[in-house]
This record gives sequence, C-alpha cells and structure tokens, in this order.
Amino acid sequence: MIYRRKYHPDTAKPDHRHEIRYSGTMSSRPIIVWFRADLRVHDHPALAAACRDAEQIIPLFVFDERILKGKFASSNRNRFLLECLKDLKHSLVEKGGNLVVRSGSPETILVELAKESDAKAVYYSGDFTPYALSRDKQIEDALKSHDIEARSFGGKLAVTGVMNIKTTGGDPYRVFTPFWKSWANVRRRDVAQPPHSISLPQLTVGSLPALDDLTTKAELSDAAAAGGETEARNALSAFLDENIDDYGSTHNDMGADQTSRLSPYLHFGCLSPREIETQLPDSAGARAWHRQLAWREFYYYVLYHYPHPGREFQERYRDMSWVQDEKSLQAWKDGQTGYPAVDAAMRQLRREGWMHNRGRLIVGSFLTKDLGIDWREGEAHFMQWLLDGDMANNNGNWQWIASVGVDPAPVFRRLYNPSSQRDKYDPDGTYVRTYVPELKDVPDNYLSEPWQMSDDEQAEYNCTIGKDYPEPIIDHKAARQEALERYRSQ
Ligand SMILES: Cc1cc2nc3c(=O)[nH]c(=O)nc-3n(C[C@H](O)[C@H](O)[C@H](O)COP(=O)(O)OP(=O)(O)OC[C@H]3O[C@@H](n4cnc5c(N)ncnc54)[C@H](O)[C@@H]3O)c2cc1C
Repeated sequence: MIYRRKYHPDTAKPDHRHEIRYSGTMSSRPIIVWFRADLRVHDHPALAAACRDAEQIIPLFVFDERILKGKFASSNRNRFLLECLKDLKHSLVEKGGNLVVRSGSPETILVELAKESDAKAVYYSGDFTPYALSRDKQIEDALKSHDIEARSFGGKLAVTGVMNIKTTGGDPYRVFTPFWKSWANVRRRDVAQPPHSISLPQLTVGSLPALDDLTTKAELSDAAAAGGETEARNALSAFLDENIDDYGSTHNDMGADQTSRLSPYLHFGCLSPREIETQLPDSAGARAWHRQLAWREFYYYVLYHYPHPGREFQERYRDMSWVQDEKSLQAWKDGQTGYPAVDAAMRQLRREGWMHNRGRLIVGSFLTKDLGIDWREGEAHFMQWLLDGDMANNNGNWQWIASVGVDPAPVFRRLYNPSSQRDKYDPDGTYVRTYVPELKDVPDNYLSEPWQMSDDEQAEYNCTIGKDYPEPIIDHKAARQEALERYRSQ
C-alpha cells in the first residue's frame, strides 16, 4: 500500500527543508568541503552547494587517528578507505580540482586551513553516530568563534530529516515495520548533480598515506571488494541489470549470492541511497530491496535517539550473565565450530571482509544463543573484518539477533538451528563447499551434520571428523534449551 504511485519516494515532492538554495551571488572566498563517509561526487549535496556558492572550493579529507586507530579500527576498512580516496581524488582532478589531505584532529585542521585559505565556510554531510555528533558540534563551535560558517547537508541517508520521524504519540519508533511505513512516505529531496568543474585555490595538497601505514597484512582479507565510487557505480549497475527483480526470492539463498553487495559502498558513501532510490525499477524485487535500505536508516535513527551502543536497548537484559568461553569464541572466529553453515560464513568474513546477511544471522544466533557468549564479542569481531563495519548497523543488528535490542520478538524466533538453516538457505551446498573445502566431497544429505557420517562414509568422502573437519563444539538441541532458560530467567 505504501508504494501507491503518489507515495513512491521517486514521485514524492522534494523535501524543501534541505534543498540547496542558491543565493545568486558566488563568494570570492573559498568554501571547504569536508569529506568524511561521503566519498563520491554524484548526488553530494554539500559539494554541489559549495560549487554553487563559491568560485573556489577546497575538497578536504582529514585522517583522524581516533577513527583509524580507535576501538573499532580495521585494516580491511582502512584499505578500502584508501581506495575510495584515490578514486575520489581522480574524479576531482578530472574536474580541475584535487583532494586536499591532512592528518590530525579535524577541529584543529579545519580552523587552520580555513584561516590559511581565507575560507568563508565549511560544508559537510551530516553524520549521526554519537562520536560524529559530538565532534561536529565541537567543530561548529570552533569555526563559529573564528567567524567561519559550518553547514551540514543531507546525503548520508535517503531521508534527510529521518530523525524527525515519530510515532503518533511523538516518540521515536522502536519497531521497524511502522517506522518503515512512515519512512517510505517522507518527501525526498532532489538528487544533486555532480559539479562540471572545480577550481581550487593555491595551497599544499598533501598526499594519501601508504597502505602499510594504515593496515596490518595479517588482518587483510585476500578477496575483499575494491573501494571507490567507480567500483560502486559499476556494482550498482550490475545489480540493477541482473538481480534486483529476483531479490525477493533470492536474497536468503547464500549460494546464489545475488544480493547487491553494496553495503561497503553505502557505508563509505561511495553511493547515495537517495540517488539509488531514483534508479529502482517498479518491481516486487526492488520494493523488497528498498525495504532493506530502510533497515539501514532505522539503525542510524535508533542510535541517534538512544545513543548508548555499549548497553542493551532492552533494560531487562542489561545484567545478563553471558558465558565466558575463550576456546569456543576462538573456534567461532576461526570457522571451526563443526557446524558447516556457521563455519562457511565465518570463513567468508575473513576471506572477503563481507558476509551474506543470512550467514550473519546464523553466526549471530549461534554465538549468542548456542554458545551464550556476549554479543559485544561478535560485534567487535565483525568490526575488525567487515568492509561495511558500521557502528549503527553492526550494533543494531547484533542487538537484534541477540534478542536484546529494538524490534523485539520472542527469543525462540531468533534462535536458529544451524543445520536446518543450511538445509533451507544453501540447499545444494554451494555456499558451504565454497568456504569449507574439507567438505567438498561430502554429499548434500550430510552437509549440515557431517558428524552423522559413518567411518566408512567419512573415508569415502575424504573427510574424517575430528581430523579434517572438527566435531561440533556444542550440541544444538541442549544449547537451545539452555539459551531459552537463560533468557527466561532474566
Ligand atoms: C549480526 C549482523 C551484523 C551486521 N553488521 C552490519 C554492518 O556492520 N554494516 C552493514 O551495513 N550491515 C550490517 N548488517 C546488515 C546486513 O547483513 C548487511 O547490510 C547486508 O548483508 C549487506 O549485503 P548487501 O549489500 O548485499 O545487502 P542487500 O541485501 O543488497 O541490501 C541492500 C542494502 O540494505 C541495507 N541492509 C540490508 N539488510 C540490512 C540490515 N539487516 N540492517 C541494516 N541494513 C541492511 C544495506 O545497506 C545493504 O547494502 C549486519 C547484519 C547482522 C545480522
């Protein structure tokens, strides 16, 4: 119903509150465009506005040590970031500009650069994590005290004013479906055109750091996707051409691997979710995909309204006694649990820096329910490896699968049997055989529970349990009962 023609985001009237207003006069003082997680030139409202408001602009990226080496630092994401920046620099150079690069604290650098270049303003895309909000407030104050304007624009999310969506009672939503229905009906802004040309004032451009300065080789995935807006736009075109219309029926099929894999590009802002919306076909698959995009915005919304990612959203579970079991946690991280669906997904994460959503659900349920291990362990491990590792979306999803977050449901609904999940979502074994080669000769009927093979069968299928592939580290049936009891007793 929400996709009746007049409500489709693409045909809805623009959101005038966030429109790029053109004053008619261009400033002779430059404007700094501070790039953060918006590494693109297409549909970039801050960049487009700066190019209309000033004769010269200074596209800037600041390497902020607090992010690159902080709690959730990741070699995979740092490499991806460098690739995005190289591509962005290339696009800016092609238009006559460049990417100015600095390292240090943005508060200091922005004020220094603005003074050095006599910039009149700093434009940037708004961000919503607690860290970004407090940093941006500090920067805004610092710039104001030097009479420099700081202006935040939309672009990170499809709906610029998403944080203002409220229930009829005026509260933020805690449940996804009603949020999504409101979200789908919010008026959208117009897509911003990329600048034709860019003029940069005379200043030191600075160079991008070397890969080795930002990464540790052992923590890099060999088969990770490459970063950058060019890669992102190619991946989007391929998905729109080949897979979107079937998304509703294929998105859970781990072996088919037909989801968009756009999440890292969305995380780094190589793609604008608003621009993507305008390119979606009118099909059931596209509507199902668009709903997933709303989940992404929902978790930013949740983190904005409840900025305490370190603790459980549901008060009831804040004192949960999680199991301390280093050995099982390590087996989970290494993809050595003896459950093929879990192990395949965990190995995909290491190999590609990405994991299929169904895999994320299976391993999340296994860690928090079967093993009873604190969801924060899973959150941290994912943040180390995922190219799309994102404070809002990782935290929100981990809390969701651990049954302690928003959008609550009875615990048993998110307590998956890893064997039947494999039967259902990898029926021909493509996924397991790709990532767990020890099981490649094992027939489909044993691929969920290979320990059920007789000794003769293990020999025949080249897989001795306990030698080539581990025994299951836990009995799912018993673990399920314990998990239900653990949650019930809270
Ligand atoms: C435990 C767990 C941790 C997760 N951590 C992250 C994370 O750190 N970063 C991240 O972007 N996603 C995370 N997700 C959500 C989801 O798994 C990925 O967004 C999705 O698998 C990315 O693949 P895709 O681009 O092919 O998605 P598609 O299926 O093509 O979906 C399109 C887009 O919709 C968004 N989306 C889809 N599913 C979700 C979802 N459940 N929650 C939020 N957004 C969604 C993503 O931006 C995605 O790119 C997590 C899910 C789980 C269960």
